[in-house]
Formats: sequence, structure tokens, C-alpha cells
Amino acid sequence: MSRVHGNNPKARIDHGGADLFLRNGHVVTMDGARTVVTAMAVREGKILALGDDEALAGCVTSRTRVLDLHGRTVLPGLIDVHTHVMQWAKAILRGEIDAGHNAVHSIAEITKAVANRAAIVPHGQWIRGTGWDDEKLTERRYVTRHDLDSVSPNHPVYLNHVSGHLAAINSAALKLAGVTRNTCDPQGGVIERDAAGEPTGILKDTAMEPLIALLPNDPPDINARAAKLISERAAELGLTTIHDIYITPDEMRGYQEACRHGWLTVRIQMSPAVGKLADAETLAQMGVSSGFGDDRLKIGAVKMFADGGMGARTIAIHAPGVIGEPDNFGVLCWTAADMQKAHLLAAAAGWQLETHAIGDRAIEQVLDSYEYVIRQLGLKDHRFRIVHAGISTPTVQKRMRELNIVVDGNPPFVYWIGSWFFKYGQERVRWSYPAKSYIENGIIEAAGSDCPVTPLSPWWGIWAAVVRRDLQTGQILAPEECISVEQALTLYTRNGAYAGFEEGSKGTLEPGKLADFIVVDRDVLTVAEDELKDVKVLQTFVSGRSVYDQPST
Ligand SMILES: [Zn+2]
Repeated sequence: MSRVHGNNPKARIDHGGADLFLRNGHVVTMDGARTVVTAMAVREGKILALGDDEALAGCVTSRTRVLDLHGRTVLPGLIDVHTHVMQWAKAILRGEIDAGHNAVHSIAEITKAVANRAAIVPHGQWIRGTGWDDEKLTERRYVTRHDLDSVSPNHPVYLNHVSGHLAAINSAALKLAGVTRNTCDPQGGVIERDAAGEPTGILKDTAMEPLIALLPNDPPDINARAAKLISERAAELGLTTIHDIYITPDEMRGYQEACRHGWLTVRIQMSPAVGKLADAETLAQMGVSSGFGDDRLKIGAVKMFADGGMGARTIAIHAPGVIGEPDNFGVLCWTAADMQKAHLLAAAAGWQLETHAIGDRAIEQVLDSYEYVIRQLGLKDHRFRIVHAGISTPTVQKRMRELNIVVDGNPPFVYWIGSWFFKYGQERVRWSYPAKSYIENGIIEAAGSDCPVTPLSPWWGIWAAVVRRDLQTGQILAPEECISVEQALTLYTRNGAYAGFEEGSKGTLEPGKLADFIVVDRDVLTVAEDELKDVKVLQTFVSGRSVYDQPST
């Protein structure tokens, strides 16, 4: 980082007065020259000037609000390019059982929570929960219908796995869905069965869909309320832009409603889903596409799934198979031909593409399809994205570079779910979420929490990118892939903006860009590595307006 002193020519211009003037700070702009300044002036929601206190003093008029930062660090507002925050916020608003790592530690505790709920919910009504992770439960196995039947014979139960790629349901729910030993696995999904061929109550990927369709309707205002909750939580964490992926029309309406009410203080890119070819046809005919909207709420990329999840052991891989399941090479959600058709339809209609692919076999299918579409349409600046790209081998990375693919990576995965990587063997642990290689190979990686898969806090991700320590084993996974704090911040700022075609308006603190910035409680560039996860946001500004002020204690 270089420090700019008081001879910044831009800063001497009389700017006609700032609305907000920050002085005496440590303003890390994240610009290409790695500029650090002490002062920043804001007018009409945009950054007017950056420089040192004296050079910018001319921006202060009688109506300027002056904020003395007392040496504190200012960063651009952080960007999370891959979340499911609507789903996450609605689970909170519904009061779903929290079966996540911090709330429960065993199947016994999960069944106890279900039993408690069954005691107060009328018979026949659904009991829902979310966030369980077999790897973090004492029993180290999936929850089954047998576990759930014993405590909930009269209520259908639906418990989402933290990965979002599988659910545990009980016999009452299986019965409602008509799933029996004779039901075939759908394309892209698995109905797990025991040795006798009976469903265990575990449904993976597309096999969950018939169950999801049976879940009760939410109150009509839940999506708008969820958007409000998302705004509040994002502001506390220093996130000023979030991409919400695979969202439904009702959820999009919820964001719009929250926006009308003035509740939406975070900027949102909404990514609709294409689950089948007909969805791509519908989107192609809509007449709007990626980028439509405004700085607050806009339509983002179109999202598809190529394979499953590591938690469900359904990612599509080449040989060797999953450890202990030598015949398990995962699932592909699309035939190659249909994926290509869907990608082409959407891209031809102006949509940016983003496709979930974790296993190398799935990533290759997506790269083949992207390559075809790029050639067919002669695209130059497409920024097609691969979501996760979990097992990113050197072969895969070479093709990503050649095709200018953007990776929506997941720095916090190494910590929260790093233990899942081991199911795929040591060689694949080496190439799991390889941030340093991306930088060395010139591949742009942006960062996503995949919330609720991992917590929404970007500080976990920034920390995990630097240390790469697995929660379960304490091991450093592929230490050669550790990156610096500044590089980690780049994933959450500049690169996030780039992934969303927004580098002209955000991602760095530069004159003319949106005044989205945060004040944090320590100098993130020099603190001890392990403190990064503990960084507290003191203030968050969006368009120069304060949307969060840490309550004074
Ligand atoms: Zn996701």
C-alpha cells in the first residue's frame, strides 16, 4: 500500500461542497495503485474526492457533515456474489428448528428439538428445520426417517442439510409425497435406500423437489420482511452488495416490495433459476435480462446447476469415486445437449450465465457448454461464471483462463466444510477452492458465503482465505493456496464488482463511484491473521448514507 500525501491534483479542485467529509482516517481504497489516504469527501451518494485532510478541506461547507475517524480503517463496502439469503432469512422468520453446528451437536439433540416441536404443533402440520451437517454430528452419519419417526410419528418432518443438496424426512412425509421403494430416482437426484431397498428418508438434489412442493405456503409478506432482515444483517457485517441466487418470482417481488418501502438498504442482484429447458425459453422471452434495474435492485446472472454437493456426495467427478463408495461418481443435472441449449438460449437473450459445478466432471461439462456459446455468439466480455468450482484441477484452470471464466469461489468453505473435501481423496483436497492458483493463472475469483451453507459474515471468508484451516481437523488444507489479506479483500471488493459488471460504480473507493464504504474496528491489513474473523464493523454507508452504526456499549 502506498500513502498519498497532500499534492493530489484532483483533490485541490473546488468541489462545491461535500455532504459528508471523513477525515483523520486510514482509507484503504483498494484501487489499482493500492492507494491509502486519510480523507474522503462524498456528495449526492457518490465519492467526490480522496486525498489527505488538508487537500480536501475545501470540500467542507457549513452544510457538510464532518466525521473524525480517529485513525480508523475505511474499506469499500464488501460484496458477496453467492448467497441464498432469502431462503436463509425466511427460515429465521418461519422459526424453523436451527439444526446448525452451533445449535446442535448430535442426532440425539436434533430429535429432541423435533420432539419438543411435535409436542406443541397440531398433528398433521409440518415440522421444519435447517442446517444439520452429518460431518459435525457426534454420530457422523445422516439423520434417517427412523430417527425422526420415533419422535414425530404424527407430523411430517423436513430437515434441510446445511449444503442445501439433501434433506432428511420422516415416514409421514414420505407417505405424503408418495415416495416408496418402487419410486425411481429422478434425473439429477437420489432417493437413498437401505440394504433392503427401502427409502431411508434421505433425498438428494432433484429428489427433494416433490417434497418442497408439499411444504405449506408462507404468509404473503414474508419475502419483503425477509428482504428487510437481510438488509439489517448485511449492514452489520459490512456487506453493501449481495447476489441472491436461484430465487423465485415471489422472492423477486418481495425484494421489489421492500425496495418500495425503503427497507432495502443493501444492494441486491437477483439471479433467477433455470432448472429445465422450458425455464430458459421463458427467460429468453421475458425481454429483460442481466443488468436490468438500478443500483439498488437489479437482475443478475441466470443460475443453473450442473451437479450436486459435496455434503450429499453428489458432485460429478472422474475416477476415482468417493472414498468408501468406489462406484459413486456423482450426478449431472443436465444432459450435455440440453445444458448447451439452455445456455445458448439465455445468453442469446442477453443473460449472463452462472452455473453451479463442484466436481471436475461437472466443471468440464459447463466449460464445454460455455465454450460453445461463446463461439456461437462471438461474445467478448461475457463474464460467464462457474459457481464454486470446488475441484479446480490445473487442467480445469487452464481452460477457465482461456475462456475468461469468472469463478464464484467460496473462501469460507475451507474452514466450515473443509472436512467434506476429504471424502474425495487427498489429491482433490489439494485442488479444492484454490485461491492462490487463480491469482497466479490470471483467473478472476469473486467470493461467496453460499449463506446459509456458511455464515453470511464476510470476515469468516477473508480469514479462511488467509489461513485455510479446517474446523473439524484443525489441518491447513493446501497451504500453498493461502492468500494475503489484501488479496482476500480483493475477492470481496474489486472482483465482486467485476463479476456483477459493476466495476464502474463500486468495488474500490474512487471519485465518481458509489459511496459504499465501511468503518472497521481494526487495521485489517496489519492485524494478526486470526483476528480477521473477529473484525467488527463500526459503521456501514450505502450511497453515503449511514445504514449501520454499531451501538455504543
Ligand atoms: Zn449456492
